[in-house]
Amino acid sequence: MSAKQKRILVRIIISALFVAVLSFVNTGGVLGFALWMIPYFIIGYDILWKACCGIINGQLLDENFLMSVATLGAIALAVWGRGDYTEAVAVMLFYQIGELFQSYALGKSRKSISALMDIRPDHANIERDGRLVSVSPEEVSVGQIIVVNPGERVAIDGIVEEGESDLDTSALTGESVPRTVSRGDEVLSASVNISRQLRIRTVRPYGESAVARILELVENASANKSRSEKFITRFARIYTPAVCIAALLLAILPPMILGIIGAEAQTGEWIYRALSFLVISCPCALVISIPMGFFASLGGASRKGILVKGSSYLEALSKVRSIALDKTGTVTKGSFEVREVRAEGISNGQLIEYAALAESASSHPIARGLIRAYGKEPDISRVSEVREIGGCGVEATVDGIRVCVGNRRLVGDRATGEKGAVYVTLDRAYAGYIVISDMPKAEASEAVRALERAGVGHIVMLTGDSESVARDIAKSVGIGEVRSELLPDGKVAELERIMSQHSGKVAFVGDGINDAPVLARADVGIAMGAIGSDAATAAADVVIMDDDVRKVAEAIRISRKCMRIAKQNIIFSIGVKLLCLILVAVGLAGMELAIFADVGVLVLAVLNSMRGLY
Ligand code: ADP
Ligand code: MG
Repeated sequence: MSAKQKRILVRIIISALFVAVLSFVNTGGVLGFALWMIPYFIIGYDILWKACCGIINGQLLDENFLMSVATLGAIALAVWGRGDYTEAVAVMLFYQIGELFQSYALGKSRKSISALMDIRPDHANIERDGRLVSVSPEEVSVGQIIVVNPGERVAIDGIVEEGESDLDTSALTGESVPRTVSRGDEVLSASVNISRQLRIRTVRPYGESAVARILELVENASANKSRSEKFITRFARIYTPAVCIAALLLAILPPMILGIIGAEAQTGEWIYRALSFLVISCPCALVISIPMGFFASLGGASRKGILVKGSSYLEALSKVRSIALDKTGTVTKGSFEVREVRAEGISNGQLIEYAALAESASSHPIARGLIRAYGKEPDISRVSEVREIGGCGVEATVDGIRVCVGNRRLVGDRATGEKGAVYVTLDRAYAGYIVISDMPKAEASEAVRALERAGVGHIVMLTGDSESVARDIAKSVGIGEVRSELLPDGKVAELERIMSQHSGKVAFVGDGINDAPVLARADVGIAMGAIGSDAATAAADVVIMDDDVRKVAEAIRISRKCMRIAKQNIIFSIGVKLLCLILVAVGLAGMELAIFADVGVLVLAVLNSMRGLY
C-alpha cells in the first residue's frame, strides 16, 4: 500500500469511528451540526476541493461534483430536519472506500506490468585500466566488452566473448527454463545472468537493445485506447448531464404536479430522492473497471511474452477470423541448412564463399544459413555495393566481381529449377546453385490447430519461396491454402484480397524481415521473435518475444477473455445502476443502499477485471 493509500485508510477509520460515536451521542442543533462536520470534512475535504477546482475549470459534471452536490444536499436536508447527517458522511465514506479499493487494485496490475518495467538496467560493468567500473548503459559503445556478474541483468545486446552461464530469459520470452550460453552465443539484454560471470561484446547501442525496445512498447501501450474505452468517455459525456437533468426534474416536477392536483407536495422528500438519484448515478464501476480490465490483460499478455501495443489491438485481435502466416521464420525455423552445392566453373567452396560474402550484410535467414555454411567470419572489406532485393535475393560486389545470389526472379532463366535452390551468378555468368532447406517448427502444426480451435476459419500461408517448397511445408503443418512466389508488395496485395473477401479482422504473422509493409497493412500485424529487429517492432501491433507460433492463438485467447470481461462489467454495472436509480426514484430505497450497491458492483467489477492478469 502506498503512503497516499494509507492516508486515505486512516481518514476512513477516523471518520468511521466519529460516525459511530456521534450516532450514540445524538446531539442536535448547532452543536450537532458542528460535530458532524468534523468526520464529513475529514473524509470528504479532497472531494469537495476537487469539485471546487472542477467548477472553476468549467468541468462541472465529474463524479466529485456529483458527490459534493449530493452530500451537501443531504446535509441541507439534515439541517432542515428531514434526514440525518449519517447519510452525508456515509456516502463519502463508501465512496472513499471504493476509491481506495480501486487504486489498490490498479496498483497491483500496474505492478505486474512494472515487473516488466523493472528490467530497465541501471548500470553496465566495463573494464577500465584492469578494474571493473560501473557506467550507465547509454555510455557503452558498440563492440565494447561488458562484464555481467551472476545475479545481474544484461544491459545491452551482445555476443558472449568469454564464459559459460545460464540465463533467465523470462522477461523476454515468458519462458522460465534457463538457457545455457557460451562463447559465440547471442545474448539479449533484459535476461538475467544466473550462474557464472560472462564477458559480452555488445552488438548494438543500449537504445536499440531488446530491453530498451520492450520498455518503449510497454510505455506506449496504455496510450493506445480501444473503442470500448472510448465508449466510456462518450457514454459519460451524455450520461452525466442526462442524470443531472433527470434529478432536477425529479426534484421539481412531482411536487409541482402533486401541488396542482391538490395533494401534499412533500417537496423535501422529492429533493431527497433527487439528491440520492444524483449520488448513485455516478458510473464509477464502469469508468474504473473497463480501462483496468484492458490494462490487466495487457499485463497478463506481457507476462506470457506477448506484447500488445495497445488495448485497441486487443480489441481487434478478439475479432480476428482470418490469419495469413509468413513462411520463413514463422511457420519454419528460419534456420537454413545447405543440402547440396553444385558449382559450375569454380569449386563448391568458392561458390559458397562468394555467396556468403555477398550475403554478409543481409539479415535474411537464407543469408545467415549461407554464412554459417561458409564457417568463417566474412571479411567485409572485400564486399561493396550491396543491394538487397526483397523476395529475390542480394547483389554485391565481391573482390571486384558482381555477385548475385537469389532465386530465379533475380538470376533469370539461366537457373535450372532445382527445388529450394538459390542461384549464384558472377559478373552475370551463371556459376551454380546451392540447395538450402528449412524445417517447419516442431510446434507449427499444433499452432495451426490451436488457431482453428480459437475460431480462426481461414488460415493462409504467404511466401516468396517457390510453389513446390511452399506446398510441402504447408502440407506438413496442416495449412490448406498457400500463396507462393510473392514479392513483398505481392504479399500486401494478397493480404488486401483476403481482407476484402472475408469478414472479421485479418491478422498477419511474420518475422518482419522484408515483410514490414504487410505487418503494417494488416488489421493486426503480429511480429514473431522480432525483438531484435527494428522494422518489425515498429510496424507490428503485437510482438511475440520468442518464436513460438502457438502464442498467436494464445494472444487471441487473451484478447477474447479481455473483451468478455469488459462486456460482463458493462452489463453488470449498468444493470445494477439502472435498478438502483429506479428504486430510489420511486422511493423504495435510500441513498445508503444505493451507495452500498455501488461499492459492491465496483468491487466485483474490479475483481473481474483483475482476471485479465492470469
Ligand atoms: P518468405 O516469404 O518465405 O519469408 P522471402 O520473401 O523472404 O520469403 O524470400 C522469398 C525468396 O526470395 C526466398 O525463398 C529466396 O529464394 C529469395 N531470397 C530472398 N532473400 C534472399 C537472400 N538474402 N538471399 C538469397 N535468396 C533470397
Ligand atoms: Mg520472411
